[in-house]
Amino acid sequence: MSNQFSFFDSVNVYFDRAAEHTGLPPGLLQQIKVCNAVFQINFPVKIKGEVKVIEAYRVQHSHHRTPTKGGIRYSNHVSQDEVMALAALMTYKCAIVDVPYGGAKGGVKISPWEYTEDELEKITRRYTTELIKRNLIGPAIDVPAPDYGTGPREMAWIYDTYRTFKGDELDAAGCVTGKPVNQQGIRGRTEATGRGVFYGIREACSFAEDMEKIGLTPGAAGKTMIIQGMGNVGSYTGMISQDEGQIKIIGIGEAEGAIYHPDGIDVHALLAYRKANGTIIGYPALKTFEKKDRELILEQPCDILVPAALESVITVDNVDNIKAKIIAEAANGPISAPAQEKLLAKGTIIIPDVYLNAGGVTVSYFEWLKNLSHMRFGRMEKRFNQNQLTQVIHLVEELTGRNVNEREFALIARGADEIDLVRSGLEETMINAYREIREVMVNNPAIPDLRTAAFVNAINKISSDYNSLGIFP
Ligand code: NAD
Repeated sequence: MSNQFSFFDSVNVYFDRAAEHTGLPPGLLQQIKVCNAVFQINFPVKIKGEVKVIEAYRVQHSHHRTPTKGGIRYSNHVSQDEVMALAALMTYKCAIVDVPYGGAKGGVKISPWEYTEDELEKITRRYTTELIKRNLIGPAIDVPAPDYGTGPREMAWIYDTYRTFKGDELDAAGCVTGKPVNQQGIRGRTEATGRGVFYGIREACSFAEDMEKIGLTPGAAGKTMIIQGMGNVGSYTGMISQDEGQIKIIGIGEAEGAIYHPDGIDVHALLAYRKANGTIIGYPALKTFEKKDRELILEQPCDILVPAALESVITVDNVDNIKAKIIAEAANGPISAPAQEKLLAKGTIIIPDVYLNAGGVTVSYFEWLKNLSHMRFGRMEKRFNQNQLTQVIHLVEELTGRNVNEREFALIARGADEIDLVRSGLEETMINAYREIREVMVNNPAIPDLRTAAFVNAINKISSDYNSLGIFP
């Protein structure tokens, strides 16, 4: 690491800075800040005839609300410090978007690309078994979800393993979220984090006075964007920003290299190209950066920079070269604490991870609720609403003498499906949370930035939970 701050240190620097604005007693702040439980597990898996010992973690940062919740990361960079930092971020994130969980995170120290699907299944099932054995997973205990290097496939293996051991648990499906839809998942979960990132960016761009300060016009449409990482979060952020926000994507970075084109890169075409060729290199662009120079994509001019790969990609080493006016932290912890100071000093708006990528956990919460209720959202009311709206249309037609055409009818007299309700719930959550954070900042001139405001908001909400327990008078 190129600076003296570990990832967990960075999170705690942000926490301490925000804590000063809360006036809460030190003991309570300390209880909110520390990781309540840290588990390291080492287990053997036979891979290609040889035993490999896998290092893995599960950290439950805060039990102020249960279950705890947080993704599982498969990466060679996994360490206890990283998992603790990510678990802490989950606690604050859940509080910010009013999702009633304590934060947690899991990590398995492997490079998933080095293993076959069968080997990954073996590792995932064994990791899950280790969690079950220690009572570290369950719909009322701790509920994992996808993160870097994992997705619906891994979540389905986790659910199946859990069900094998706990088949008599009525709510077993709520033991993990981010499952495929046909495995008790929810429509809209896969896109949720990226969609939430878009809603957050759009909301931030909607405040004329904030945009004016950085020399931009209000509104997301027409702004330029560079995205680092075209995995789950980055690809959906790109597609939705382009399709629904009319944002121009001008740069894309991936593990194999990066491309930049100021005229715009069609994200769908680029993703199709990468699928066909296994790389983004070769896609028509003004500038192409080979693997060794891939981080230079962060330094190209643009309005909005979206790091959506890994943490600590903007540090004191490259921060002076960053030209973006807005940095939208889709990834967790992409900016080190010292680099943030420099960015804020030059007026860059940083939309913090702890708020911006909360779309995933928000829709995971909807999935968990669906699992506990054993019913798809919209099933009870869709047809009823459709009938009511049809009646209203007929009444309006009668009163006005104008007939509604087929297209209008289909648009208006429509009961909401699960995907409509999930997107609407997510949009509402992201807009409300942004406004809450911004209000904390605007109402308190001593709070200098959105991240500090987001942490203040989170700490205050968590402290009120502890206060209601009567432990901290
Ligand atoms: P992912 O594994 O789907 O995608 C990550 C992508 O980054 C991959 O395509 C990988 O090839 C690429 N990448 C790796 N190194 C790179 C580099 N040096 N330069 C450019 N690209 C590189 O992971 P994800 O789920 O999209 O997660 C990305 C980030 O978002 C992580 O920080 C994660 O913690 C965060 N996040 C994810 C979710 C979620 O729901 N998946 C939710 C909240 C936060």
